[in-house]
Parts: sequence; structure tokens; C-alpha cells
Amino acid sequence: MTARRGPRYGLVADVHANLQALEAVLAQLDEESVDAIWCLGDVVGYGGDPAACLAAIRDRCAVTVLGNHDLAAADPVGRNRFNAQARAAIERHVELLDATDIAWLAALPATVSEGDATLTHSGLADPAAFTYVTDARLATVELEAQRTPWGFFGHTHVPVAYAAPPDGPVIAIRLSEGEPLSLAGPTRWFLNPGAVGQPRDRDPRAAYAILDIGAETYVQRRVPYDIAAAQESIRRRGLPLIEADRLAVGR
Ligand code: ZN
Repeated sequence: MTARRGPRYGLVADVHANLQALEAVLAQLDEESVDAIWCLGDVVGYGGDPAACLAAIRDRCAVTVLGNHDLAAADPVGRNRFNAQARAAIERHVELLDATDIAWLAALPATVSEGDATLTHSGLADPAAFTYVTDARLATVELEAQRTPWGFFGHTHVPVAYAAPPDGPVIAIRLSEGEPLSLAGPTRWFLNPGAVGQPRDRDPRAAYAILDIGAETYVQRRVPYDIAAAQESIRRRGLPLIEADRLAVGR
């Protein structure tokens, strides 16, 4: 039997202005020769290189959806629920971005559907609420609002697969790195590739995923990057140091 051919997509989320992590992931995606890259939001916030990351995402990604930090850069009202460090970082980022960058962030769509896939930063039931989908109960609400078999999200910075079988409750699955998950069949999925630029699952390596439409598979990947250089960039730009420290431990 020959494998079905179809496009392959790289999925990136929560880049958070971490240029070293983004470059490492883009190099991997080039090596895997994906057909296009989809970005699940939060290009900016926290990290040392917002303008360079924004330029790379704008240049390389076929689709990008709006993250809460992207919104906060474009609209001060979006900073209302931020803690002091997140707010300080986004205010510094606004200084480091130009008007064209801010306009690009402001124009990002909250959700996009492409074939069998829907992309969102946080959730589909109420994208503007930026809900943190951290368990199967919360994922159930999003899967009920999902109009395609596959949904992709970020925001929690933790890679996970939520499966909604046709005749049972939604379950959370922690995927093994590099092991293809079959998306064939009636089960619907809500999938988070983890964060490129600020992982919070105690694995400091940059996280991303690959969706193979022909094979109907999804593969979780990690790649090490130059964390010390990303930390130095945060210090050099006068951003909150807690955002540098956490990169070393992935939380
Ligand atoms: Zn984020």
C-alpha cells in the first residue's frame, strides 16, 4: 500500500519574542520540508526580540491567529488581566515595534479554518475570553464549539492532545515525542503543539508539531536551542528577568 500524499504543515504557538527558539524550530521545519507553517498566536510578549520574531512569522507563516499578547500590544485594554511582569514586557515591546508591526498584530483573526482544521490561540467557544484549556472538562466545551474534525490551539504552553471519541467522554493524551498520532477515524481532536518560545511543561526545549494531511497524522516535536542567548537578549532589552530565568527550567 502506498502512503497517501497531501500537504504537511508545521504548527507553531507562543513564540513570545524568543528568536533563538524560533530560528531553531524554523530550521527543523525547513529540514522536514513542510509545505506551510501555521502560527497559533502570541508572537510577542515576554522575550527579547519581538520585532525580529514578528518579521519572521509574517514572512514564513501562511496563517497566524491572534494571541492575547498580540492583542495587548495593539490595544492597552488587552493588558487588563496581565500580571506586572507580563504588562511591563508588553509595554517594552510596544517601544520595540513600529506602527506597521502593531497594525499587523491588530489585524490578526481570532480563528481560521483551513479544510479539516480550525486554528485558534486559546479556544473556540469564546475566543475573546482567552480561556486556558488545561483539562478534559474545559476541552469538552471547546470541542462542542469546533466545526471541523481537528482543532489546534496554544496559550497554555503545554503540549497535549484532547480526543473526543464519538461515543465517550473527552480524554487528555500526553503524546510521546516523535511518535505519530493517527487522526483518521471518527474521533475529533483539539491539539496543542506546546510553546516555541516559553515552554511550561518542565522541558525547556522549543516545542512544535507537524500535521500530515495525506497520512492523517500529527507528530509532536522538540528541539534544543541557545537558551543563554535568548536570556541575554531579555537582559539587554531591559525586560523582566523572571522571563529569562524560567526559560532554563521550562516553566
Ligand atoms: Zn502565550
